[in-house]
Amino acid sequence: MGVIVQKFGGTSVADIERIRNVAHRVAKAYDAGNDVVVILSAMAGVTDKLISMASRISERPEKRELDVLLATGEQTTAALLAMTLISMKYPARSLMGFQAEVRTDCAFGNARILDINAERIEALIGRRNIVVIAGFQGHDREGNITTLGRGGSDTSAVAIAAALKADVCEIYTDVDGVYTTDPNICGKARKISKIAYDEMLEMASLGAKVLQIRSVEFAKKYNVPIHVRSSFSEEEGTMVWSEECDMERLMVSGITCSKNDARILVKGVPDQPGIAARVLGPIAEAGIVVDMIIQSAPKNGTNDIAFTVPRTEYDAAMETARRVAEEVGAEGVHGDQSIAKISVVGIGMKSHSGVAAKMFSTLAAENINIRMISTSEIHISCVIMEKYAELAVRALHTAFGLDREA
Ligand code: ADP
Ligand code: ASP
Ligand code: MG
Repeated sequence: MGVIVQKFGGTSVADIERIRNVAHRVAKAYDAGNDVVVILSAMAGVTDKLISMASRISERPEKRELDVLLATGEQTTAALLAMTLISMKYPARSLMGFQAEVRTDCAFGNARILDINAERIEALIGRRNIVVIAGFQGHDREGNITTLGRGGSDTSAVAIAAALKADVCEIYTDVDGVYTTDPNICGKARKISKIAYDEMLEMASLGAKVLQIRSVEFAKKYNVPIHVRSSFSEEEGTMVWSEECDMERLMVSGITCSKNDARILVKGVPDQPGIAARVLGPIAEAGIVVDMIIQSAPKNGTNDIAFTVPRTEYDAAMETARRVAEEVGAEGVHGDQSIAKISVVGIGMKSHSGVAAKMFSTLAAENINIRMISTSEIHISCVIMEKYAELAVRALHTAFGLDREA
């Protein structure tokens, strides 16, 4: 018995039948004597549909109003689950983000949680209510509705679990745990029974969308154990927790793939000191986060600078890059949105050499051209053409000995 936070993702609440299934799971935890707080996503596909509706009105819809719109997806599922539980004679109560006092900064569309006043939730569970909270949303200091970025209900769940000092935060999704790579790309992916926060952080930041990265940051900071599991089976999933508990240590723990970036190439930039700052400074000033950067060797007094930006910022980044290119007298700007970033991740890599060489030779053997490279102590990433992404993931998964035994 204790406090359990259960988060259900979009596929788990995709229709009324599935919401009933969720209600039964929640009821089971409640009947076992636990205090249960449930965080919900919108029904699968609803957030996308709302975004596309807004884009029919304007290319760049007003951000405040877009958040008001997007928050309705989670409002719907929270009400439907609370109703279902009540119809089953459970004392349930839904709360929107602002009612649960999830306070964020005012970065509409990508807000950060600043703090949560858990008193109202605590008072409700103290009276044995099941509290159902709309994920993905909060409010800023002026009372505006904000949303937390795609996949943000994971972060709502972990942050609320931290505020309640919950015993565990269960993340129910459409796969039964965290795998060595996306099991929907590679049939030989292996389920990981436990993974340390740091490794999960790296996997999440490099494309494993099973957990939103900020949720793992919260979990690490407040030491919240996360149990990632399937809402369609009873099987144990993956525990994400502090490193001391993680005994097994493979050199490489996983392969990730991200299609969230775009590449911008500024060609023929005059080779002068300070030029990289002149090209990239305005991009940063526009609030666009640059990830990888490559500068070619100088040729005839000029060189090329290539960098990646989030695909959602592509148009704004191209606009800025074109303006800067003209100012510095560069030859031109090329953009490419059909790229993928493939990464090999593992804390165990720190003490092993040869991981990079193996990654490059594996991609070469598949005739896949590497366009950019970046490394850290615990990951190596290569940018390749998007159409080779799945092939690259499978080849690397095999090459690093991660395949499940047949
Ligand atoms: P939810 O709607 O429940 O939040 P998401 O679609 O956000 O679910 O996340 C689950 C998906 O994450 C899986 O369907 C899977 O395709 C993807 N995924 C990517 N990498 C991994 C990984 N390493 N392990 C498990 N799932 C992964
Ligand atoms: N509904 C939001 C999204 O689709 C948040 C979430 O599901 O976590 O991104
Ligand atoms: Mg998700």
